[in-house]
Amino acid sequence: MSRCIIYAQMAMRLDEIILSDRKTRVTLSFCFLALLAVTIFFIKPGQIFAPAPIVEVIPKADPWKEAADRVAEDRGEPIGRDARVVVPPELRHYSDRRRFLAVQSAECEEQKYEIPHDYAALIDLVRRGQLIEMEPLGADYILYGAGESATEDMITHFDRASGEDIPLLESRDEYENEHNRLVESIGEQKQAVIDLQLQLRRAAKDRALRKALATQLADARLSLEKTVKKADTLAFFYKDPHRLRALMAERELIYEFASQFGDKSYDLSDPTERRQFKIRLLSFLRPEASKVLIEVARAYNAQFARPLPVTSLVRSEQYQRLLGETNPNAARTAAPPHTTGLAFDVYYRYMTAAEQDWLMREVAQLKSKGRVEALRETRDHIHVFVFADSRPPDERLIQKALGK
Ligand SMILES: [Zn+2]
Repeated sequence: MSRCIIYAQMAMRLDEIILSDRKTRVTLSFCFLALLAVTIFFIKPGQIFAPAPIVEVIPKADPWKEAADRVAEDRGEPIGRDARVVVPPELRHYSDRRRFLAVQSAECEEQKYEIPHDYAALIDLVRRGQLIEMEPLGADYILYGAGESATEDMITHFDRASGEDIPLLESRDEYENEHNRLVESIGEQKQAVIDLQLQLRRAAKDRALRKALATQLADARLSLEKTVKKADTLAFFYKDPHRLRALMAERELIYEFASQFGDKSYDLSDPTERRQFKIRLLSFLRPEASKVLIEVARAYNAQFARPLPVTSLVRSEQYQRLLGETNPNAARTAAPPHTTGLAFDVYYRYMTAAEQDWLMREVAQLKSKGRVEALRETRDHIHVFVFADSRPPDERLIQKALGK
């Protein structure tokens, strides 16, 4: 009610100060009184000076999340490896297990594909239209963890010869700083090795202590060795003008591409965006493989009203190497299937026996027609490798890959 008094006082003061004409004064006073009435009857206390009312924000539906929920939805019966399924012979290993990989590397040789070694190489393939992007959620499939092992680390060049990741530094100065840092670290590590050797000599009779020190010494030596190798590889690249230029160009390519990747721009100095960028680059396939994926997904969705979960698409050698440390299914051969961009993995972890049997029959049919190589892997995946010309590679190339 104090608000009403203030309004009334304002009306009177204004009357006194500004207006002398009686008629106008009456009119204005009337207006103020009307405003006062409106305030009293229609406006709740606290409403005028209160902040704008909070509109309840209804969370926007996330179609990807909804689709992912459909994938993992409880089916009320055994799923994945617990489901009793019949694996068709087409999805099992050959009697000579090596043939599975030999067929795929023969196809790679027949097609004369370039194998992308790192992210810059993937970008190059994308730019030349050799790979096409698979959206996170398609009409009938969902990318369910593709590129998930990508780290937030800086994007590096992968050196095939040494198997080392080479940092893409901004300038020669940055290299000098990094070099000095490594030299300092090598000095410290050398001293640590000397100290441990000394301690080991002094602990002549204490067997437990000797054992502990010997382990520490071995670790210290290994760490020193790694740092020296890192410094040498870095010098090999950054002290040579041609290699330096190549690295600079690679860095530029990556940053330029990231700044306008479709309709999105990625800030590569931000670890989260860096990882998102990597994951997106690992969401591509060769057009021929994409076609088969969409075909299988459409049939599966029509049958079971669920999106087909796909976990792996193209990989670079660098990414393959990263996976090789944790995933025993990841091949370590010269041209791992996924680096060709012709392979994708379907995740059967949540599928019932009916779903799996149906899916395996579909893939088995494709294999019978000579369109794909395939395997039901033990770790919840069905690996599908698409032949680019819809027929298997020349048998002579397969035999060659087998070393025959
Ligand atoms: Zn696979």
